[in-house]
Amino acid sequence: MGLGTGSLLEIIGIVGDSHVLTEPEDLICYSYDASRIQVRPACVAFPASAREVSEILRLACREGFAVIPRGAGSGMVGASVPSQGGLVLGMNRLDRILEIDPDEMLAVVQPGVVTGALQRAVAEYGLFYPPDPASASFSTLGGNVAMGSGGLRAVKYGVTRDYVLGLEVVLPTGSVIRTGTRTSKGVVGYDMTRLMVGSEGTLGIFSEIVLRLAAAPETRRTLLVHYPSLDQATDTVRAILRNRVVPSALELMDHSAIEVVESTMSLGLDRGAEALLLIEVDGWESAVTHEAALIASLCRASGASSVQTAATPAECDALWKGRKAISPALGQIRPHKINEDITVPRTRITRLIRSIREIAHRHDLIIVCFGHAGDGNIHTNIMLDRSNRDELARAEKAVEEIFRIVLELGGTLSGEHGVGIAKSPYLLWEVGQDGFDAMWRIKQALDPRNILNPGKMFSPSRAFFSPA
Ligand SMILES: Cc1cc2nc3c(=O)[nH]c(=O)nc-3n(C[C@H](O)[C@H](O)[C@H](O)COP(=O)(O)OP(=O)(O)OC[C@H]3O[C@@H](n4cnc5c(N)ncnc54)[C@H](O)[C@@H]3O)c2cc1C
Repeated sequence: MGLGTGSLLEIIGIVGDSHVLTEPEDLICYSYDASRIQVRPACVAFPASAREVSEILRLACREGFAVIPRGAGSGMVGASVPSQGGLVLGMNRLDRILEIDPDEMLAVVQPGVVTGALQRAVAEYGLFYPPDPASASFSTLGGNVAMGSGGLRAVKYGVTRDYVLGLEVVLPTGSVIRTGTRTSKGVVGYDMTRLMVGSEGTLGIFSEIVLRLAAAPETRRTLLVHYPSLDQATDTVRAILRNRVVPSALELMDHSAIEVVESTMSLGLDRGAEALLLIEVDGWESAVTHEAALIASLCRASGASSVQTAATPAECDALWKGRKAISPALGQIRPHKINEDITVPRTRITRLIRSIREIAHRHDLIIVCFGHAGDGNIHTNIMLDRSNRDELARAEKAVEEIFRIVLELGGTLSGEHGVGIAKSPYLLWEVGQDGFDAMWRIKQALDPRNILNPGKMFSPSRAFFSPA
């Protein structure tokens, strides 16, 4: 798809000269995301209103060029990479929190607001925006909604999808619709909001987002628990939930993750342990005290070798250090990693991790597992040097074997990061031909010229695995 000089002049006319980038060196920043897939766009424009977005999309439909919405470009699967060139629409000028309503417990925001900025703003009202991707300090709410992002607190509070009440969306043809409501109930017509959440910039561009808020918890308590065996750790997860305690975080590090952190940072984790759990409860002081004590006794009953409980915010943060150190530590053992965010029913985590260990052994790879034991979302990091062709081929094989096991266990290939380019070859594996066709028909109905973020989700590209 081409973007000619005539179209460029019209884009400048719509957003203004100072909000368009065309110089090759300026375009580089908008050519990749955290997946490392890189394709340079023809041009980047920064609209300031739904009307400007709409005019650009009408122009794109007329002239047939690709438009790719972009937030912070922190996505893990290449969803914001302009894989077929075209125009990147940076949504960053639309960065205002329009309203915080403590009585209705909702916020209305523009899509370019950084997630952490909203979290801080609502805290001043005693409110809480629970979705917390680890990228919250730089990712945008538009990107979070488009990817259906999740985080540590999903086990208790759910993910972004659970907080989107309504949207203003510019459809690929340029019309502007409102989905959902400002009320917590609302069942009129198809649930277009749910369709748009997780649509990865392929069905519409969000220009306004209505978000549900929660009451801020009074306090929190963190426990760090080591186990001689993985089964004892996953048994504890079951025991906690069966005892009607829903922690706000329930994180697992397997032996490989403990080893990586300790060998690079020496934080005092027990290298003899096969697994550890980081458990956090939040709420009213009296409830939290009771829940933390109950969890500690359940951990001991499940065979924990040590249980540490932190009460003050500083102590809690200290216990989180090991978990937060994993990503930087991984960077020290191999130059690259393939990070899969596979998810299985939480009762099957042990089977998943044991299968991954067997695959790692068979392919002579280092695979480090950690993640959200409370919701079965295990980050699986295949460590490699992408310039080593043989290692890359073994890693590709391992990924496919892991994906097959995840589906056999009744899981999903992505709990957080989405499909984008990286997982598009595998969409069919999970949803089947009829599911794939139904999704493609929805895409065609809303975007008949396939101008909005083309080449994503439905494309069988394997760009993810090519050397960086
Ligand atoms: C260090 C790090 C940690 C991370 N941790 C997590 C985590 O814990 N959980 C998690 O889920 N993800 C995580 N991510 C992935 C990433 O941060 C999320 O996918 C995030 O939601 C992307 O937001 P963004 O603003 O960067 O969007 P981008 O990467 O710019 O775009 C992502 C998608 O959203 C679309 N999009 C952007 N804005 C709009 C809009 N206004 N309308 C329609 N579509 C739009 C784009 O076209 C693209 O398809 C992490 C990434 C990094 C680098």
